[in-house]
Amino acid sequence: MNYRGRFAPSPTGALHFGSLIAALASCLEARAHGGEWLVRMEDVDAPRTAPGAAEGILACLEAHGFIWNGEILWQSRRLEAYQAALDDLRAKNLAYGCACSRKEIAERATARAIDGGLLYSGTCRHGTPSGRLPRAWRLRVENADIDFSDPIQGTIRQNIARDVGDFVLLRADCQFAYQLAVVVDDAFQGITHVVRGADLLDSTPRQIYLQACLDYAQPEYLHVPVATNAAGEKLSKQTGAKALDVEHPAANLVRALNFLGQHPPQELAQASVREVWEWALGNWQREKIPRCQWIRDQ
Ligand code: GLU
Repeated sequence: MNYRGRFAPSPTGALHFGSLIAALASCLEARAHGGEWLVRMEDVDAPRTAPGAAEGILACLEAHGFIWNGEILWQSRRLEAYQAALDDLRAKNLAYGCACSRKEIAERATARAIDGGLLYSGTCRHGTPSGRLPRAWRLRVENADIDFSDPIQGTIRQNIARDVGDFVLLRADCQFAYQLAVVVDDAFQGITHVVRGADLLDSTPRQIYLQACLDYAQPEYLHVPVATNAAGEKLSKQTGAKALDVEHPAANLVRALNFLGQHPPQELAQASVREVWEWALGNWQREKIPRCQWIRDQ
């Protein structure tokens, strides 16, 4: 079977337990299918990229015994490809320039988008007001239901116009949006299966929609549960998640396997990284992944 998966961290900080879960699940799924597993550094958002974080993430993956196929793809080196995709969307009249300021967007919004942000009211959909120059570029979305079937999360359906609205492709600060970059790169790298955290579940219909606009193939999607802290917040740098302790990679891997419902023998936490991988590669069962979006990390 032709299977190509990937792990795509954003180098905004060190690798933490939440990112280890996504890395491990995507890698084990790829290997279980005899497939390839790629690493892509999602450093497209320059202002959010922390100096040294990308190198730290790669060293941490190596310390945990991850072996990826091929070269790392760096999004910061892919700006021409994102521009070409935006040009293609413009040529198809699917992308338009938007002159609205944050304040204007807030004043005119009448509804919230699924991610809690504001739904764009469409002021510039048919051209920017006279004398105003575009600040950002948006995708002109149709009133369409997008659905996909996720092996863990079930059927997910979203109406792009109602739930997301005309979303941003190139931001006013001249940074390409994650949604565009991820779709262009998944297609460029020939990714057939995306395995990632359920915090990105809401983004997937947008990405499927963009793939259709750009005539790209649609990968399969699987979203594993996301670890939360005691306050119910997703583990992330913003919520104070601790960097993984690279002194105890085997114990970290065993903890992540437990989180993913695999429940290896407890003594494996004292074994070598190689032994943990041997067990994981031989015993991985996707069916055991808990079918939920969030799990509190004990
Ligand atoms: N870079 C994204 C993140 O770290 C993940 C992107 C993806 O897996 O599609 O949240």
